[in-house]
Amino acid sequence: MCIGVFKKENFEIVNNPKDAEIIIINTCGFIESAKEEAINCILEMAELKQTANCKYLIAMGCLVQRYKDDLIKALPEVDLFLSIDEYDNLWEKVAKLIKVEIKSKNTLDYMDRIISTGNATAYLKIAEGCSNRCTYCAIPYIRGPFVSRKMEDILEEAKKLASSRN
Ligand code: SF4
Repeated sequence: MCIGVFKKENFEIVNNPKDAEIIIINTCGFIESAKEEAINCILEMAELKQTANCKYLIAMGCLVQRYKDDLIKALPEVDLFLSIDEYDNLWEKVAKLIKVEIKSKNTLDYMDRIISTGNATAYLKIAEGCSNRCTYCAIPYIRGPFVSRKMEDILEEAKKLASSRN
């Protein structure tokens, strides 16, 4: 959905981070190995920022939701951290960072998704969070309580995805 926000603002989406002026890293904050992978990716992109086209480095996702204050202190190379509860204002925050005028409200929308998983498959989110609170699991603390998407919205998106897949 995040890519869709940038597409609506007429940004060109590139595959190679060396070509990007804005690099956005989506992070996982669930298990240790995923956290390490996210941090390593941020550090790798921060290094790239020194040499390539990149002007802005943005990190978002579950790791940011869980550890935003610590990350701000530990990773000054990152220009903007976006936690999940800030996604409704994602474009507003990015526009402020990159100093572009906000012409219209540009919010995350499932129907504007750009699918990055190839042409044969696509993920379809049906719900967010979990209310079970198993003692060993951080998901409810990161993603909040279980909230289902509306059935009609899921069906509408499923139909759009099906018609766009080969
Ligand atoms: S059911 Fe338990 S293990 Fe699964 S996401 Fe919810 S809290 Fe975590």
